[in-house]
Amino acid sequence: MEYVDPSFEIDSDGRVLCRAHSNYDFFLELECQENSARCLDRELTCKTCEHYYNDDCYFSKEIIDQVETNRLKKKKKFICKLCGNKIDRMLTILYSLYFKDKYNVKIPLICCACHAALKEDKFEESSKYRSNIFLYNALYAVYSLISVIFFIFVYQIGFFYLLIFLVPIAYLFIINMKKRKNIKAGLQFYKENFLEYYDEKSNNSHEI
Ligand SMILES: [Zn+2]
Ligand SMILES: [Zn+2]
Ligand SMILES: [Zn+2]
Repeated sequence: MEYVDPSFEIDSDGRVLCRAHSNYDFFLELECQENSARCLDRELTCKTCEHYYNDDCYFSKEIIDQVETNRLKKKKKFICKLCGNKIDRMLTILYSLYFKDKYNVKIPLICCACHAALKEDKFEESSKYRSNIFLYNALYAVYSLISVIFFIFVYQIGFFYLLIFLVPIAYLFIINMKKRKNIKAGLQFYKENFLEYYDEKSNNSHEI
C-alpha cells in the first residue's frame, strides 16, 4: 500500500498547512478572507482529510485519532515550548511529529502567540510582560488574603469565613505562579535555542 506523505508549509501567521490535505485549496481560500483566522484554525486538522478517511496518509488513522484524543484530553501532552500554553492546531502537532519520525529532527511546538512575538522579534519583551502580569495576579491574591484576614480580625467575624476565601485565593495564586514558571522556562529555552540561531543568522547576513 502506498502512503501519501504530508507536505507542510507555514503561512505568514505561523499556521502549519498541509499541501497534501484534500482541503488545501479551501484553506487558501479561507486565508484570503478577513477575520477567517478562527475559522481556519478549526479546519487545520487531519480529521477532515481524504487521506485520513482512506487511511493512506503517512500517519495512520489510529495515530491521528490518538493525537486528537491526547490533544483534547491530556492538557500537558502538547504544549508550547515557549510559554506552556496548549497547542490548538492539530497540524502543528503532526508537523513536529513528522520531522521527528522521519528525519529525527526535533521541531519545538510553538503556539501562535509566541510565533507572532518571535516573528516581530519581540519575544523576550512579550515574555517578560506576560510573566509580570502573572506575578502581579499572584501578588494580588496574597493582598486579597491579607485583606480578608484583616477584615475578619477587625469585625470579629467567625474565622471559618477565611476558609471560603482561602480556597479560590490559593487557587489563583498557584495558577498564576505556575503560568509564570512556564513562561520563565520558555524564555530560558528561547535563550538557549533561538538566540544562538538568530545571532548566527544575523552574523551571516552581515558577512554577505
Ligand atoms: Zn491530512
Ligand atoms: Zn496526511
Ligand atoms: Zn506559546
